[in-house]
Amino acid sequence: ALEVRNLHKRYGDLEVLKGIDLVAHDGDVISILGSSGSGKSTLLRCINLLENPHKGQILVAGEELRLKPRRDGALVAADNAQINRLRARVGFVFQSFNLWPHMTILDNIIEAPRRVLGQSKADAIAAAEVFLEKVGIADKRHAFPSQLSGGQQQRAAIARTLAMKPRVILFDEPTSALDPEMVNEVLMVIRALAEEGRTMLLVTHEMSFARQVSSKVVFLHQGQVEEMGTPEQVFDNPTSERCRQFMSSHK
Ligand code: ATP
Ligand code: MG
Repeated sequence: ALEVRNLHKRYGDLEVLKGIDLVAHDGDVISILGSSGSGKSTLLRCINLLENPHKGQILVAGEELRLKPRRDGALVAADNAQINRLRARVGFVFQSFNLWPHMTILDNIIEAPRRVLGQSKADAIAAAEVFLEKVGIADKRHAFPSQLSGGQQQRAAIARTLAMKPRVILFDEPTSALDPEMVNEVLMVIRALAEEGRTMLLVTHEMSFARQVSSKVVFLHQGQVEEMGTPEQVFDNPTSERCRQFMSSHK
């Protein structure tokens, strides 16, 4: 499970997150929707401290992340060993894949399990083969990222994330950098992960996909949770006018 309590974040005077509360129970798939600038990426990035929040608590599998204030007021990890452990439990899939260009796909996947989890090369390779199969690019194991299509690169990035055996996976618009014909192959992989019962937070503009795979949907507006509920509630019967407008303009 993943829990965020009263999370605040600002950039200078701009308050981007204004007290976010969110719980993902084990097996939850939570889609996070909202207009551009509403704070979706910032929320995901604060969860694994790619950005430093100013207030709030983050708990992963019941363990609270220990934070301490930096001179400018932002909160940073108080315990480096703990943050490294937490980052290994929380996978992050970016819009831009972020594969290492100078490494083959296989090497991209085994790097962190070897370095962070201390897996032997043979074990890491054996595990990587399974994940490559799972995302459907086993034949690309010795290729470099630039030799893959966008959809294949994103599936490789998902395999790399899975190789760390994360408890929670955060996806930030995993298909929005892809040509339309490649969107589906990535969504199918994410759908399979949802069906396996993985815990995931998904920022996406793929509304019909979000409706299908989510156990819960969160609508953010100006750094606050404006609406939260089941897909039926949030898509079909939103109580907030802003959420209603957003839904009707994204049909
Ligand atoms: P999009 O749908 O366009 O990806 P988003 O909901 O992910 O939008 P964020 O990227 O979280 O929005 O940004 C929220 C707000 O924070 C925006 O007003 C943005 O301009 C601002 N912001 C984000 N990152 C920074 C930064 N590094 N420095 C200053 N302001 C930032
Ligand atoms: Mg974003």
